[in-house]
Amino acid sequence: GAAAPPRAIAKLPEHVVNRIAAGEIIQRPSNALKELIENALDAGATSIRITVKDGGLKLLQIQDNGSGIRKDDLPILCERFTTSKIKAFEDLSSLGTYGFRGEALASISHVAHLSVTTKTRDETCAWKAAYSDGVMIPVKSGSDDPAPIPCAGNDGTVLAVEDLFYNTPQRLKALRSAADEYARILQVVIAYSIHNAGVAMSCKKASAGSSNATADVSTSLGASAIDNIGVTYSEQVKRELVEVSAESQEPSVTLRAWCSGTNYQGKKGRYLFFINNRFVDCSPLKRALEAFYSNFLAKGTHPFVYLSLDLDPTKVDPNVHPTKKEVGFEDETEIVEFVCEKLAERLASQGESRSYKVQT
Ligand code: ADP
Ligand code: MG
Repeated sequence: GAAAPPRAIAKLPEHVVNRIAAGEIIQRPSNALKELIENALDAGATSIRITVKDGGLKLLQIQDNGSGIRKDDLPILCERFTTSKIKAFEDLSSLGTYGFRGEALASISHVAHLSVTTKTRDETCAWKAAYSDGVMIPVKSGSDDPAPIPCAGNDGTVLAVEDLFYNTPQRLKALRSAADEYARILQVVIAYSIHNAGVAMSCKKASAGSSNATADVSTSLGASAIDNIGVTYSEQVKRELVEVSAESQEPSVTLRAWCSGTNYQGKKGRYLFFINNRFVDCSPLKRALEAFYSNFLAKGTHPFVYLSLDLDPTKVDPNVHPTKKEVGFEDETEIVEFVCEKLAERLASQGESRSYKVQT
């Protein structure tokens, strides 16, 4: 049959473009929170307090004691592609921060109500601003002045994200339940609290009335990674883990890990992978470790592995995935082999008689 004549191509209105783009970056509350935690860490915070209502769909609030945001920067804070972290594309190859795209806050402002209260060390008071669709809007309803308003506040930043996905009903419907979203949020908080041990982090549900609901995660200033594994998972898991650390020149890699040995019997595999400090899925590594552990763990049981790899930043591409859930890196096969070898050596040195075979 005859094909239909082509339809005219038209440019989408900007707010539609922005809302579509935002949906790729902020897929669920836990993605938004990950971005906010990373911002707090980039700002040098040593304390991060998170409060959540309805699995983050009603409220995600995060308070940090980092650098704060300069008052003059508040008007462009939520514009797309505004960042204090890189200036040129080349800077991506020596990235020392989590952020680089200036898209997180912009995206959030396109799919939620966002407000910021922030104070730098130099200011005598804090400033509060509110945002919608990338631009600053009046903080007080009824006012038509979008300028930030002075208020009391501590050094650092409080960000409040309310009514996430209020304007994208399909997305809202696709999310399963507040309980499920909260579980994902806790996973993100736990992962970051272990990898950024030393920073005090807490996460709790907002409770009506009283402000002293007990936290579901709470780690202390100056704690170590293994301390925080004990606090966030269990003391029992902690006792089963051995530390692995190793370095290689070719390919250039530094490995630090805490992983379970032969006696561990996890019902579910727990894999926490960080590549250049970024919390990522790394399927090649996960597959290799599953194969490795299946050689000696009892059938149906799985390991616990917290693993951090520092790779040459010129060989890592953080810009391959909209939620940055994956990173690309060179020498993947060699690096995965290196990790399995070092784990095998370490577990063998535990003084157990079994041999640990590395599958390659
Ligand atoms: P990116 O992190 O990629 O730069 P974001 O949209 O996440 O982009 O943040 C935009 C900018 O806002 C950051 O570059 C930073 O300057 C500032 N910012 C965001 N969150 C904080 C925070 N918690 N403390 C201090 N500055 C922040
Ligand atoms: Mg960011």
